[in-house]
Amino acid sequence: MKIRVEDLRERLQGAEERPTEAAAYVLRHAAKGDPKSVLESLDDFAVNHGFLMNLGPEKAPLLEATLRSLGLRLRVLELGCYCGYSAIAMARNFEGEGRLISLEKSALSVAAASEIIDHAGLADRVEIVHGDSGESLARLEGEFDLVFLDHWKGLYRRDLETIEARGLLRPGSVVFADNVGPVFGAEEYLEYVRGCGRFESRNEVSTIEYTDIEDAVEISIYRGPRGA
Ligand code: CA
Repeated sequence: MKIRVEDLRERLQGAEERPTEAAAYVLRHAAKGDPKSVLESLDDFAVNHGFLMNLGPEKAPLLEATLRSLGLRLRVLELGCYCGYSAIAMARNFEGEGRLISLEKSALSVAAASEIIDHAGLADRVEIVHGDSGESLARLEGEFDLVFLDHWKGLYRRDLETIEARGLLRPGSVVFADNVGPVFGAEEYLEYVRGCGRFESRNEVSTIEYTDIEDAVEISIYRGPRGA
């Protein structure tokens, strides 16, 4: 059952606390140690019980393909963990030394995502950092191969500028931004990443997870501090 555009706002109400219910659902229904089963349980919950702002089954393959194109022993940074859906989708592709750091502001989401990621058997590959993204970014060091932006849309530009200023990207790093379609008002971010001269950027049209509503992702390759 797909969600209609007029239902979306209503469905999002209460979404802040929904990860707690989703975690209980996953622990009850998903096979332990099986990332695919965990993602399917989250999809099932989102469609049949309560809307979840997950990456969803349509966009996840695009993110995973982008990740795999960069290699398998990766250092990945995620902004906005929520239920851990995208963290699981990415981390299940890691081999050996692949690691993901996920920044999350909501304590409820941190607790729920920790349980869900542990149930998927990926706790040793994912570190969730609780707090405001700006404050957490100020403490991060080293370069990341992939950055996935999926937190507050109004913070995408500010946080990408911080990521650049702190030297967290290397030439060739990819910044993958979810929800840059017409519903979310990501114009400021798109203008920045396309116009600053330091990224080679492309847009992929998709839909908002579990709906037919138009959405898009922006995939931007970092060319270095002075551009290409
Ligand atoms: Ca999203």
